[in-house]
Amino acid sequence: MNASADDGPIAPNGTPWWELTVHPGTNKRFGQERRLSAWLWFNKRIGETFTMNELRDALGPNIVGTSEHLNRRLRTLREVGWAIPSYKDDGSLKPDEYRLQSRGARYWLDEDRKAYKRFKASARIRRKVMDRDGWRCVICGIASNESYPGEPDEAARLTVGHRVPQERLRARGAADNIDNWRTECARCNEPVRDEIPDPHQYDEVLVQVRRLSRGNKQTMLNWLQKGERTRSELDRAYDQVRTLTHNEREHIRTYLQSSTSKSS
Ligand SMILES: [Zn+2]
Repeated sequence: MNASADDGPIAPNGTPWWELTVHPGTNKRFGQERRLSAWLWFNKRIGETFTMNELRDALGPNIVGTSEHLNRRLRTLREVGWAIPSYKDDGSLKPDEYRLQSRGARYWLDEDRKAYKRFKASARIRRKVMDRDGWRCVICGIASNESYPGEPDEAARLTVGHRVPQERLRARGAADNIDNWRTECARCNEPVRDEIPDPHQYDEVLVQVRRLSRGNKQTMLNWLQKGERTRSELDRAYDQVRTLTHNEREHIRTYLQSSTSKSS
Protein backbone atom coordinates (compact mmCIF):
# COMPACT_ATOMS: atom_id res chain seq x y z
CA MET A 1 0.00 0.00 0.00
CA ASN A 2 1.33 3.43 -0.88
CA ALA A 3 1.74 5.89 1.94
CA SER A 4 -0.21 8.96 0.93
CA ALA A 5 -1.99 11.96 2.30
CA ASP A 6 -4.89 9.55 2.74
CA ASP A 7 -3.19 8.05 5.76
CA GLY A 8 -3.51 11.20 7.87
CA PRO A 9 -6.44 12.90 9.55
CA ILE A 10 -6.59 15.70 6.98
CA ALA A 11 -8.48 15.26 3.69
CA PRO A 12 -6.95 16.53 0.43
CA ASN A 13 -8.92 19.78 0.73
CA GLY A 14 -7.29 20.61 4.08
CA THR A 15 -10.22 19.74 6.36
CA PRO A 16 -10.22 16.89 8.88
CA TRP A 17 -12.06 13.92 7.34
CA TRP A 18 -14.72 13.99 10.06
CA GLU A 19 -15.69 17.59 9.23
CA LEU A 20 -16.38 16.94 5.55
CA THR A 21 -19.94 17.19 4.33
CA VAL A 22 -19.18 16.42 0.67
CA HIS A 23 -16.44 14.39 -1.01
CA PRO A 24 -13.52 16.72 -1.70
CA GLY A 25 -13.91 18.32 -5.13
CA THR A 26 -17.46 17.04 -5.68
CA ASN A 27 -21.05 17.66 -4.64
CA LYS A 28 -21.42 14.09 -3.44
CA ARG A 29 -22.49 13.77 0.14
CA PHE A 30 -19.85 12.46 2.52
CA GLY A 31 -21.69 9.90 4.64
CA GLN A 32 -21.91 9.96 8.40
CA GLU A 33 -20.39 6.52 8.80
CA ARG A 34 -17.32 7.85 7.04
CA ARG A 35 -17.08 10.87 9.32
CA LEU A 36 -17.74 8.82 12.41
CA SER A 37 -15.08 6.25 11.58
CA ALA A 38 -12.49 8.96 10.82
CA TRP A 39 -13.26 10.79 14.05
CA LEU A 40 -12.97 7.65 16.15
CA TRP A 41 -9.83 6.54 14.36
CA PHE A 42 -7.93 9.77 14.92
CA ASN A 43 -9.42 11.02 18.19
CA LYS A 44 -9.91 7.96 20.37
CA ARG A 45 -7.34 5.50 21.59
CA ILE A 46 -8.07 1.80 21.78
CA GLY A 47 -9.89 1.17 25.05
CA GLU A 48 -11.14 4.76 25.41
CA THR A 49 -14.82 5.45 25.88
CA PHE A 50 -17.10 8.02 24.28
CA THR A 51 -20.71 9.14 24.49
CA MET A 52 -23.33 10.13 21.95
CA ASN A 53 -23.03 13.74 23.09
CA GLU A 54 -19.33 13.67 22.39
CA LEU A 55 -20.01 12.34 18.89
CA ARG A 56 -22.56 15.06 18.26
CA ASP A 57 -20.17 17.76 19.44
CA ALA A 58 -17.33 16.36 17.38
CA LEU A 59 -19.28 15.94 14.17
CA GLY A 60 -20.90 19.33 14.38
CA PRO A 61 -24.37 20.78 13.87
CA ASN A 62 -24.95 19.17 10.47
CA ILE A 63 -24.98 15.65 11.87
CA VAL A 64 -28.39 14.05 12.29
CA GLY A 65 -28.42 13.98 16.02
CA THR A 66 -30.78 11.36 17.34
CA SER A 67 -29.16 8.58 19.32
CA GLU A 68 -31.07 6.01 17.29
CA HIS A 69 -29.59 7.46 14.13
CA LEU A 70 -26.04 7.48 15.48
CA ASN A 71 -26.54 4.00 16.83
CA ARG A 72 -27.33 2.79 13.35
CA ARG A 73 -24.08 4.36 12.15
CA LEU A 74 -22.15 2.54 14.86
CA ARG A 75 -23.81 -0.69 13.77
CA THR A 76 -22.54 -0.13 10.24
CA LEU A 77 -19.02 0.29 11.58
CA ARG A 78 -19.34 -2.94 13.55
CA GLU A 79 -20.21 -4.67 10.29
CA VAL A 80 -16.92 -3.58 8.79
CA GLY A 81 -14.81 -4.89 11.61
CA TRP A 82 -15.03 -2.27 14.37
CA ALA A 83 -15.59 -3.49 17.91
CA ILE A 84 -17.58 -0.85 19.78
CA PRO A 85 -19.32 -2.40 22.78
CA SER A 86 -22.08 -0.55 24.59
CA TYR A 87 -23.34 -1.09 28.13
CA LYS A 88 -25.39 -3.97 26.76
CA ASP A 89 -22.19 -5.83 25.92
CA ASP A 90 -20.03 -4.66 28.78
CA GLY A 91 -21.34 -4.19 32.31
CA SER A 92 -18.60 -1.70 33.19
CA LEU A 93 -19.99 0.88 30.73
CA LYS A 94 -22.65 3.44 31.61
CA PRO A 95 -25.87 3.43 29.58
CA ASP A 96 -24.71 6.29 27.32
CA GLU A 97 -21.13 5.07 26.99
CA TYR A 98 -19.38 3.16 24.22
CA ARG A 99 -15.86 1.81 24.14
CA LEU A 100 -13.54 1.77 21.14
CA GLN A 101 -12.30 -1.77 21.54
CA SER A 102 -10.70 -2.23 18.15
CA ARG A 103 -10.72 -0.44 14.84
CA GLY A 104 -12.00 -1.91 11.60
CA ALA A 105 -12.07 -0.72 8.01
CA ARG A 106 -11.01 2.89 7.39
CA TYR A 107 -14.49 3.61 6.19
CA TRP A 108 -13.77 7.18 5.12
CA LEU A 109 -11.35 5.95 2.43
CA ASP A 110 -12.99 4.61 -0.74
CA GLU A 111 -10.24 2.11 -1.31
CA ASP A 112 -10.50 0.50 2.14
CA ARG A 113 -14.24 0.57 2.14
CA LYS A 114 -14.46 -1.23 -1.18
CA ALA A 115 -11.75 -3.74 -0.29
CA TYR A 116 -13.57 -4.66 2.88
CA LYS A 117 -16.94 -4.92 1.21
CA ARG A 118 -15.58 -7.12 -1.55
CA PHE A 119 -14.13 -9.57 0.93
CA LYS A 120 -16.95 -9.31 3.40
CA ALA A 121 -19.70 -9.77 0.85
CA SER A 122 -18.51 -13.10 -0.38
CA ALA A 123 -20.83 -15.71 1.10
CA ARG A 124 -18.80 -18.26 -0.82
CA ILE A 125 -15.64 -17.43 1.12
CA ARG A 126 -17.49 -17.50 4.44
CA ARG A 127 -18.93 -20.89 3.60
CA LYS A 128 -15.47 -22.11 2.65
CA VAL A 129 -14.04 -20.94 5.97
CA MET A 130 -16.82 -22.66 7.90
CA ASP A 131 -16.47 -25.86 5.87
CA ARG A 132 -12.78 -25.89 6.62
CA ASP A 133 -13.38 -25.37 10.34
CA GLY A 134 -16.10 -28.01 10.57
CA TRP A 135 -18.86 -25.48 11.29
CA ARG A 136 -17.66 -24.97 14.84
CA CYS A 137 -16.20 -22.02 16.70
CA VAL A 138 -12.45 -22.65 16.64
CA ILE A 139 -12.11 -20.98 20.05
CA CYS A 140 -14.75 -22.68 22.20
CA GLY A 141 -15.81 -25.52 19.90
CA ILE A 142 -19.53 -24.75 19.85
CA ALA A 143 -21.54 -25.55 16.70
CA SER A 144 -24.16 -23.36 15.08
CA ASN A 145 -27.43 -23.34 17.03
CA GLU A 146 -25.97 -25.45 19.81
CA SER A 147 -26.75 -23.91 23.17
CA TYR A 148 -23.93 -22.74 25.39
CA PRO A 149 -23.21 -25.14 28.25
CA GLY A 150 -25.58 -24.44 31.11
CA GLU A 151 -27.55 -21.91 29.06
CA PRO A 152 -30.22 -23.83 27.17
CA ASP A 153 -31.86 -20.63 25.88
CA GLU A 154 -28.74 -19.17 24.35
CA ALA A 155 -28.07 -20.61 20.88
CA ALA A 156 -24.68 -20.03 19.30
CA ARG A 157 -24.47 -18.04 16.10
CA LEU A 158 -21.40 -18.62 13.98
CA THR A 159 -19.56 -15.83 12.28
CA VAL A 160 -16.24 -15.41 10.56
CA GLY A 161 -13.48 -13.58 12.42
CA HIS A 162 -9.82 -12.82 11.96
CA ARG A 163 -6.89 -14.59 13.63
CA VAL A 164 -4.80 -11.43 13.41
CA PRO A 165 -6.92 -8.25 13.56
CA GLN A 166 -7.10 -6.50 10.20
CA GLU A 167 -5.81 -3.31 11.74
CA ARG A 168 -2.62 -5.05 12.78
CA LEU A 169 -2.19 -6.58 9.33
CA ARG A 170 -2.61 -3.17 7.76
CA ALA A 171 -0.04 -1.67 10.10
CA ARG A 172 2.40 -4.29 8.80
CA GLY A 173 1.38 -3.77 5.20
CA ALA A 174 0.22 -7.40 5.09
CA ALA A 175 -2.83 -8.47 3.11
CA ASP A 176 -5.80 -10.25 4.60
CA ASN A 177 -6.64 -13.67 3.18
CA ILE A 178 -8.64 -16.77 3.90
CA ASP A 179 -5.92 -18.27 6.11
CA ASN A 180 -6.45 -15.35 8.43
CA TRP A 181 -10.18 -16.03 8.60
CA ARG A 182 -11.69 -18.46 11.03
CA THR A 183 -15.03 -19.60 12.31
CA GLU A 184 -15.95 -18.00 15.63
CA CYS A 185 -19.16 -17.92 17.57
CA ALA A 186 -20.55 -14.44 18.10
CA ARG A 187 -19.51 -14.60 21.72
CA CYS A 188 -15.87 -15.52 21.15
CA ASN A 189 -15.79 -12.93 18.37
CA GLU A 190 -16.28 -10.15 20.91
CA PRO A 191 -13.11 -9.99 23.05
CA VAL A 192 -10.67 -7.12 23.06
CA ARG A 193 -8.92 -7.89 19.81
CA ASP A 194 -5.94 -5.70 20.49
CA GLU A 195 -5.05 -7.72 23.54
CA ILE A 196 -5.00 -10.99 21.68
CA PRO A 197 -1.45 -12.00 20.79
CA ASP A 198 -0.60 -13.31 17.36
CA PRO A 199 -1.44 -16.97 16.74
CA HIS A 200 1.33 -19.51 17.17
CA GLN A 201 3.67 -20.49 14.39
CA TYR A 202 3.56 -24.04 13.06
CA ASP A 203 7.13 -24.84 14.14
CA GLU A 204 6.55 -23.73 17.74
CA VAL A 205 3.39 -25.77 17.92
CA LEU A 206 5.11 -28.84 16.53
CA VAL A 207 7.78 -28.61 19.24
CA GLN A 208 5.03 -28.57 21.90
CA VAL A 209 3.21 -31.49 20.33
CA ARG A 210 6.40 -33.56 20.13
CA ARG A 211 7.00 -33.03 23.84
CA LEU A 212 3.66 -34.57 24.80
CA SER A 213 3.58 -37.97 26.44
CA ARG A 214 2.35 -40.90 24.37
CA GLY A 215 -0.96 -40.83 26.26
CA ASN A 216 -1.49 -37.12 25.65
CA LYS A 217 -0.63 -37.58 21.98
CA GLN A 218 -3.33 -40.23 21.78
CA THR A 219 -5.84 -37.91 23.48
CA MET A 220 -5.03 -35.09 21.10
CA LEU A 221 -5.29 -37.44 18.13
CA ASN A 222 -8.77 -38.39 19.31
CA TRP A 223 -9.75 -34.74 19.57
CA LEU A 224 -8.44 -33.96 16.12
CA GLN A 225 -10.22 -36.95 14.61
CA LYS A 226 -13.44 -36.03 16.35
CA GLY A 227 -13.01 -32.40 15.29
CA GLU A 228 -13.45 -31.11 18.82
CA ARG A 229 -12.01 -31.38 22.25
CA THR A 230 -13.97 -33.45 24.68
CA ARG A 231 -14.63 -31.06 27.49
CA SER A 232 -14.79 -31.77 31.17
CA GLU A 233 -17.16 -30.02 33.54
CA LEU A 234 -14.20 -27.90 34.63
CA ASP A 235 -13.34 -26.98 31.03
CA ARG A 236 -16.92 -26.00 30.36
CA ALA A 237 -17.05 -23.84 33.45
CA TYR A 238 -13.78 -22.20 32.51
CA ASP A 239 -14.99 -21.57 28.95
CA GLN A 240 -17.97 -19.76 30.39
CA VAL A 241 -15.97 -17.75 32.87
CA ARG A 242 -13.69 -16.58 30.07
CA THR A 243 -16.63 -15.08 28.22
CA LEU A 244 -17.60 -12.84 31.15
CA THR A 245 -16.65 -9.19 31.33
CA HIS A 246 -13.47 -8.24 33.11
CA ASN A 247 -15.40 -7.11 36.18
CA GLU A 248 -17.43 -10.27 36.34
CA ARG A 249 -14.28 -12.39 36.03
CA GLU A 250 -12.78 -10.42 38.93
CA HIS A 251 -15.82 -11.33 41.04
CA ILE A 252 -15.34 -14.99 40.16
CA ARG A 253 -11.66 -14.75 41.01
CA THR A 254 -12.45 -13.23 44.38
CA TYR A 255 -15.03 -15.93 45.02
CA LEU A 256 -12.54 -18.69 44.12
CA GLN A 257 -9.90 -17.15 46.31
CA SER A 258 -12.20 -17.07 49.33
CA SER A 259 -13.65 -20.51 48.72
CA THR A 260 -10.24 -22.18 48.30
CA SER A 261 -8.39 -20.54 51.18
CA LYS A 262 -8.48 -22.77 54.23
CA SER A 263 -9.06 -21.13 57.58
CA SER A 264 -6.43 -22.58 59.89
ZN1 LIG B 1 -16.95 -19.63 20.61
